Amino acid sequence: MRIARSILLGTACLAAAAAQGWAAQDLPIFDAHIHYSDQAWGPFPPELALAILDRGGVSRAFVSSTPDDGTLLLHAKAPNRIVPVLRPYRTRDDMGSWTKDPTILTYVEERLRRGIYRGVGEFHMGAGGVGDPVPRAFVELAAVCLQHEMDHLAGKLFIDRLPPLRRQLVKKRLAKLAQSA
Ligand SMILES: [Zn+2]
Repeated sequence: MRIARSILLGTACLAAAAAQGWAAQDLPIFDAHIHYSDQAWGPFPPELALAILDRGGVSRAFVSSTPDDGTLLLHAKAPNRIVPVLRPYRTRDDMGSWTKDPTILTYVEERLRRGIYRGVGEFHMGAGGVGDPVPRAFVELAAVCLQHEMDHLAGKLFIDRLPPLRRQLVKKRLAKLAQSA
């Protein structure tokens, strides 16, 4: 039933596109699952990889890699086209142990400071790994990000979340900075 509904939806979308006069080749393609891992770097250097995306009509791509440097290489060449996502693996050896390894959390937090990533993944985890410390920390991180965005909507600033005394201190410092500027 779900498949039938998806096909119906797909058909309806195509019909709508046809009604708008769009041909299939006019529609932009967003590839939502590309890995640019180390085995690909030699045979497909970044320029060639991007040329292959051109040939396929892929206008934007969601990219992750092991190690993460592959994602950075592609993103540096096409920052408006590559949507970088950070895997919690420094090497393939981390794939089976990352959920319990606290050094992975340090690694991920350090890389996230670059401020370019749009997500954490893709990662692999068995059902038993759900309660492990690293995935739990990821959920906490996501909750902080979500709260931050909700605060924007509500007009709340970071300092509004500080305890009263600390908030006063930060406000005084900000006022001093504003005066000296
Ligand atoms: Zn994958």
